[in-house]
Amino acid sequence: MKCPKCSNELKTIEKKGIEVDYCENCKGVWFDLNELEDLSNNVKEFDFVAPRLEYLKIQETIEKDKKCPRCSAKMYKVTMNNKPPMFDCCPNNHGYWFDAKELEEYVRNNLITLKKPSINLLKKIVKQ
Ligand SMILES: [Zn+2]
Ligand SMILES: [Zn+2]
Repeated sequence: MKCPKCSNELKTIEKKGIEVDYCENCKGVWFDLNELEDLSNNVKEFDFVAPRLEYLKIQETIEKDKKCPRCSAKMYKVTMNNKPPMFDCCPNNHGYWFDAKELEEYVRNNLITLKKPSINLLKKIVKQ
């Protein structure tokens, strides 16, 4: 799979049954749909909502569109539970892409719902 941001080949990291695909060049991370849910203690906590329109417009001017590494469809921005960060979501439900900064923010804002091993793994990726 290629990185949707810089086209580098993604590297698969597996630790304690958690698997993520990560870009060594731009430090972004791809989660297949179930991989992101596996990180959480309570899948029901997940509530994906579209971002507010004005926020979306700002993002579109500063950020290049990304394509899903599995199906090449143009991804759209989502937030979880209306909390930052915004990250990319495949319209065909293949999964989610986080830029390095977005992943850092995601971990910070979801410490309560994330499982301990997943927090450790994600923090390690962010630091690499
Ligand atoms: Zn990359
Ligand atoms: Zn896709």
